[in-house]
Amino acid sequence: MVLINLPEHYNYIAIFLTLNCNLTCSYCINHTVGLNSKRRHLNADEWITAINRINSFNDLPISLQGGEPSMHSGFLKILNGINAEKKIDLLTNLQFDLNKFTNTISNKKFSRDLPYPSIRVSYHPETMELNNIVDKVKFLHDKGYSVGIFIVDHPESSSQISKAQELCQKHNLFFKTKDFLGEHKNKKYGQYHYQDSVFSSVLKDCLCKTSELLISPEGDVFRCHHDLYNKILPQGSILNENFKIDDLFKPCQFYGKCNPCDVKLKNNRFQEFGHCSVEIKDVREPHI
Ligand code: SF4
Ligand code: SF4
Repeated sequence: MVLINLPEHYNYIAIFLTLNCNLTCSYCINHTVGLNSKRRHLNADEWITAINRINSFNDLPISLQGGEPSMHSGFLKILNGINAEKKIDLLTNLQFDLNKFTNTISNKKFSRDLPYPSIRVSYHPETMELNNIVDKVKFLHDKGYSVGIFIVDHPESSSQISKAQELCQKHNLFFKTKDFLGEHKNKKYGQYHYQDSVFSSVLKDCLCKTSELLISPEGDVFRCHHDLYNKILPQGSILNENFKIDDLFKPCQFYGKCNPCDVKLKNNRFQEFGHCSVEIKDVREPHI
């Protein structure tokens, strides 16, 4: 298939293999602004074709995520089918058979020269046991995989965060906290580039342009997480021979209900803080 080239300013590529998950975290970002989980799933061969046609930059890995990506029935086949020169990241809760994984997938699959681990394991204290997840991460680490533990800095998790940090230091494992994005006890958490774009009861019209390639379980490209989770305005199928990224500002009627992931301030792919995934302009009251 024809390669899909990315605009220079693109900063993230996310492959949502599935939106299903084997855990039920109360603050799961997939549910923050609605989730339509009735999905067709591309099969392994379709994903391999789709991922191999993405022509990314050397410093921009293709992130397999979800939901929990390992719940896709062709998870290992997809990983093995992706061309060796592609840079692959994996965002996972690691609730899968690690012996089978390490016997099937080489650690070279995840080697690349970036200052953060390729396999980013979420530790969620309310649904996971700390010693168990640290043991699993250590197992992968000792086998030469680029791996680290990430924990959401949720206001109810402070003591678990300290314990996890201590244990990771003891075992020399990469550890990082991630901002909690959401509302808790009537307080809004997270740093947002467009303050009134999240958790608002008022919806406005605007023009919006993304810097991310987001592909849903059915292989559709969406311009933001809000649209992807809610199945709104797919931009085309990654398996369509004629698909290309048009990189334009497009009208949106959901300003106010943006997903926090899309409008938070974060690092770009050069690890410079202050980047926002979308650019929004012409925010205005809706026409009635
Ligand atoms: S492990 Fe991740 S995707 Fe699954 S419920 Fe928890 S936060 Fe959501
Ligand atoms: S304004 Fe918000 S909801 Fe609309 S496309 Fe942009 S990020 Fe998505």
